[in-house]
Amino acid sequence: MLPAPNRMNNAEYWARRMVILHTALEDRGLEYIHNLETQFDRAAASIERDISVWYQRYADNNAISYAEARKRLTAGELKEFRWSVKEYIRRGQESALDGRWVKELENASARMHISRLDALKLQLQQQAEVLHGGQLDGLDALLRRTYADGFYQTAFEVQRGIGTGWTLHGLNEGTVGKALSRPWTTDGRTFSGRIWANRDALVRSVNTHLTQAIIRGDGARGAIDAVMRDMRSSKSNAARLVMTESAALASAAQKDCFNTLGVERYVIVATLDSITSDVCRDLDGKVFRMPEYAVGVTAPPFHPWCRTCTAPWFEDMAGLGERASRDPATGKTVTDVPKDMKYPEWKEKYVTQETLKKPYAFAIIGVRTSTGAIVQSVAGHFEDSMDKRGFSIAEVIDALEHPLHVTETVIDARGRPSQQFIGVRATVVYNSVDNTAVTGWLTGEKRIKKYGGVSSENTT
Ligand SMILES: [Zn+2]
Repeated sequence: MLPAPNRMNNAEYWARRMVILHTALEDRGLEYIHNLETQFDRAAASIERDISVWYQRYADNNAISYAEARKRLTAGELKEFRWSVKEYIRRGQESALDGRWVKELENASARMHISRLDALKLQLQQQAEVLHGGQLDGLDALLRRTYADGFYQTAFEVQRGIGTGWTLHGLNEGTVGKALSRPWTTDGRTFSGRIWANRDALVRSVNTHLTQAIIRGDGARGAIDAVMRDMRSSKSNAARLVMTESAALASAAQKDCFNTLGVERYVIVATLDSITSDVCRDLDGKVFRMPEYAVGVTAPPFHPWCRTCTAPWFEDMAGLGERASRDPATGKTVTDVPKDMKYPEWKEKYVTQETLKKPYAFAIIGVRTSTGAIVQSVAGHFEDSMDKRGFSIAEVIDALEHPLHVTETVIDARGRPSQQFIGVRATVVYNSVDNTAVTGWLTGEKRIKKYGGVSSENTT
């Protein structure tokens, strides 16, 4: 089924296909980073505001002595402080805030005395906690999707490449969950452990630099500048984390897929250009046996921001499909995969039912809406509300891609910007700043008529 059946061209063919696939997965990571940077910038703006308000309140001539900063809040200020802590706790209960932090907030709210400086530190830490809780949700969704797409699309490329297909079991929660919780670096940390470590580092450096700025008598501007430097370096750590963890999940997906398909060897494929690292330049073209596949050691990523991927290595490509057809234990039915078969068609034909947690999130993250936005995440209760109303994934995607009408963005009761994508069947509520699908409901008959759609009840 390949243009030229000699071995050299085969190797080039696989390398090219796998690089294209890998680049598409990388692009999704880059899109997510863009979203993450917006979140960092927003948190930085809040922090800047908090610090200036605090200085306005306590500083004379824009500078505050360390002794002044350590004075206790007055009874009135303490009451006000407790009120905002209560608000933080409430927010923590509806989002993915670390349980340890919520406990700390509860303790803080019970304290009889608190210094001005500690009150400010707690306020700033809340910003860091919210920021990182959001990252945990967003990165979890991105990595799940990277793994699943990496797995299926690799299988598609391999079966189409050898021209032979057989049925594969759809991924289930166990497989994806295992891939996500499998540490691949020597420190044994998973991506969530890394996010919390980044948060701890940010909180520590903000506290240190804020205290030092006050001791130096820097004034509000100096203190803000010091903290903004911490925010910038935390932002770049977060971006690196996203790219490196998604590269690791893409690599793990290729490993699991090659093993499932019976691929026996793989080859390292580095993108060779002026910024390719020495390690990747040296490993490019090296062939390994599948049992040797170890993410981060004999398989990418080999370093942060690594763009290297792997491709299957066949001495005799035709052998793979033949082996599958001869395997009496699996009873696989082998059929021809035409060269021009498209991915959705292939998936429909060769992948059996998948049982994944968050199936809607899997399907809609990465969808480009009719307004040009790219969906980056879904709210915690989105799955439940869609499932309860019995929408198919296609109906939800249709509402986002081809809505009858999109409403103007309005600010809801909780201060969040939201907009409705009114589809033929589903209406999806969308936060256009976070690019998050929030909830949804059945589009009413009146609205269908109003926006010129044909009611789904009248179609077959
Ligand atoms: Zn590399």
